[in-house]
Amino acid sequence: MDPLRIAIIGGGAAGGFCAIGLKRRLPGADVTIYEAGPRLLAKVAVTGGGRCNLTNSFRDVARLGEVYPRGEQLMRRALAAFSHEDTMRWFEAEGVRLVVQEDQCVFPVSQDAMQIVRTLERCLRETGVRVRLNAPVERLEAQPDGFRLEMPDRVGHDISHSRLDRESLYDRIVVTVGGTSREKLERLLPDGVKVTDTVPSLFTLKIPDAGLRALMGTVVEQASLALAGTKFRAAGTLLLTDWGVSGPATLRLSSYAARHLAENGYAGTLLVDWLDAPEAAAREWISATAAANAKKQAASTPPDGITARLWRHLLGRAGLREDLRWAELGSKGAARLAATLIADAYPVAGRARFKEEFVTCGGVDLSGINLNTLESKACPGLYFAGEALDVDAVTGGFNLQAAWSTAALVAAAITSGS
Ligand SMILES: Cc1cc2nc3c(=O)[nH]c(=O)nc-3n(C[C@H](O)[C@H](O)[C@H](O)COP(=O)(O)OP(=O)(O)OC[C@H]3O[C@@H](n4cnc5c(N)ncnc54)[C@H](O)[C@@H]3O)c2cc1C
Repeated sequence: MDPLRIAIIGGGAAGGFCAIGLKRRLPGADVTIYEAGPRLLAKVAVTGGGRCNLTNSFRDVARLGEVYPRGEQLMRRALAAFSHEDTMRWFEAEGVRLVVQEDQCVFPVSQDAMQIVRTLERCLRETGVRVRLNAPVERLEAQPDGFRLEMPDRVGHDISHSRLDRESLYDRIVVTVGGTSREKLERLLPDGVKVTDTVPSLFTLKIPDAGLRALMGTVVEQASLALAGTKFRAAGTLLLTDWGVSGPATLRLSSYAARHLAENGYAGTLLVDWLDAPEAAAREWISATAAANAKKQAASTPPDGITARLWRHLLGRAGLREDLRWAELGSKGAARLAATLIADAYPVAGRARFKEEFVTCGGVDLSGINLNTLESKACPGLYFAGEALDVDAVTGGFNLQAAWSTAALVAAAITSGS
């Protein structure tokens, strides 16, 4: 019997991991990765600021939807097939020692993303995966006898290879092209495969408020952010920058509201709950602090977690004098201060990059694929893994975990059904 011929389109985290999984489960299979760029795993090399946050302990995840705003259902199945613990065991078995940080992010002890790249490259070599670099696939043709790949006329410097590729036929295709535009996906995929609009996720917000920008560098360990008039809300550490707001709470909000913000031109009103507390708790803190410090200036007694400079800014936002004593606050002043503490409103005027990290919200429509196998319903034999799917996560190692889990799920599905 002829060996199963499998082409993997995209040599990133998902493509590389899937190829290794396929060859380990089915050594006789002919597995070829087509990578558009000159190197495999180029993005993995720059993940986590060059340290590679390859997964998360999931200890603080109460509900998967909190970390996977898109693809929760799919991720439940993919993680059941290959969990974060499987990821850690896998890399440790390959000699990569890992460390779980206090924030539950998992990194190699070496703090070097290249160790992850080299490990995957070694496994690809050892298992005998074939790799074509500088080999962008332009279109996948589903024909009765299998799939054909359409390549540009010149692929790298090797025209003969491109001709060969155009003539080769594959039994299975795994699309792992990462986050890309809807147009590119539609051009690549056979007719009938549904794709959703793609927009960026994981960005910071521009806030043109001079008072807030003057506080750049200020960190609030536990704040909560919301977009006025929506249900989007995210809590965590907030960082004030010279352009607006950043830090985990902002990135999480950008992930939850990625589509909404794109549709609204990245404009809206940001509501900051500086205490991440209900209004009653803020009011209680104000009256207790006022009672205990009646003769002191309000500016001298900030709430826990709020720096003196930020507190003076907030008193100003509440229309209170800097030298106001607690005894002079009055019920109207207390109400304004409580409102400022829990719903301080700032106009949003655009988005900005978070380092160079971002992921794509949108991609291959999950309604068109079998969630147990990640095979296209419209086009049997065609599978998807990684960010090409309409699955993405907040920061913390969850995006790479999605790549490992979906890739492992596809490898298992193809080999068990081969
Ligand atoms: C700077 C940065 C830092 C990040 N850090 C982290 C982190 O620390 N932890 C984390 O969990 N996530 C992180 N992410 C997100 C994470 O890197 C991605 O979610 C993950 O790499 C997705 O894997 P993938 O294999 O689906 O896509 P990719 O890794 O993007 O790989 C896709 C590959 O397909 C190739 N390709 C595209 N089109 C074609 C085509 N037509 N033909 C052939 N090849 C093609 C591309 O060249 C690319 O090599 C980071 C992202 C960025 C941008």
